Amino acid sequence: MKRGMVKAMIRLKPGVEKLQAYFVNDIPYRVKLDANEGSNYLLKGGFNINHLKPNLYPDSDSRELRRKMAEYYGCDETNIMVGNGSSELINTIVNAYCDKGEKVMSFTPSFSMYQTYCDLCGAEFIGIETEEDFSQNIDKLILAAKDQKPKIIILCNPNNPTGYVTSKEEILKLLENIDDSLVILDEAYADFSYVTAMDLINTYENLIVMRTLSKAFGLAGIRVGALVANAKTIEYIWKVKVPYNLNIYSQYAAIEALSNTDGVDEYINDIKKLRKELYMQLEDLQFQLYPSGGNFIFTKPPIDNLFEKLMRRGVLIREFIYKEKVYNRITVGTKEENQILIDEIKELIGGCL
Ligand code: PMP
Repeated sequence: MKRGMVKAMIRLKPGVEKLQAYFVNDIPYRVKLDANEGSNYLLKGGFNINHLKPNLYPDSDSRELRRKMAEYYGCDETNIMVGNGSSELINTIVNAYCDKGEKVMSFTPSFSMYQTYCDLCGAEFIGIETEEDFSQNIDKLILAAKDQKPKIIILCNPNNPTGYVTSKEEILKLLENIDDSLVILDEAYADFSYVTAMDLINTYENLIVMRTLSKAFGLAGIRVGALVANAKTIEYIWKVKVPYNLNIYSQYAAIEALSNTDGVDEYINDIKKLRKELYMQLEDLQFQLYPSGGNFIFTKPPIDNLFEKLMRRGVLIREFIYKEKVYNRITVGTKEENQILIDEIKELIGGCL
């Protein structure tokens, strides 16, 4: 081939080529209520990084961070593996367990990345439909799992984007009935609901619980997530952990945050109060609402194109289309942010209702 000629593009794997890249808005905004981020209250005073040594690799096993997390979550450090957000860890697990064509089962709608991670490794994603009111029927999931024998079942609890909370009884029912699949409970928002399966990791060997510092800890920017399971499973999965996966700054920031978690419960309680207030304000404006255990509210708005109209006014929320109907997911912000949202909505629907 002559110099300067354009070469053929080397193709990605067929399953990967058809994927849409994860799209994140970078439009200017006044209020950002589209990604379920929390407020930075734990490290708001900043932290000193001058003593850290960027020329050296970080602790590959994130030992101190895992010790701090174990204290907070009430388990042992041998029960924890950390990564660049829980997203990276979920991808790692799906990749490690699923060969091409093996099945991963979850409810739908749920966190869209589960499907993406399946596509990346050629696993087949099976979405079990939620009910009309977006509740999740565990019996239906168990029946489908017994029939289709997925390698992995992922249950997002509380569910993103609907906010639905699966009760502890239902979780136990799932675990009692499923022996041959790995059961991942994605508890990214569990701090806001208090339903957790963390205490069950030593009872059920096939259980993995995912946690993140991105939501209730308000630290989405440092990208720290955790995979919590019995020590045997952690040791087993360690084979696929990327060495030095968590950089020194993230490890340090997370250790600092976990060293003083006094504000966490207060913050969670604030968000729950604000969630209730926002729920009532939206109800008054004739939004159709679904109960939420997360730091967000899922809703069917009373006017068309709310997402776009708010975006033009600098207020970001998320839009979801499910079975040809339009829904919005609104992160519970600060009191002031929620008020801006409500004022803008009032102006928008003023003439419409
Ligand atoms: N699980 C769920 C249900 C989520 O909503 C998110 C973030 N949107 C994640 C996992 C990933 O969180 P992170 O990678 O920030 O830990």
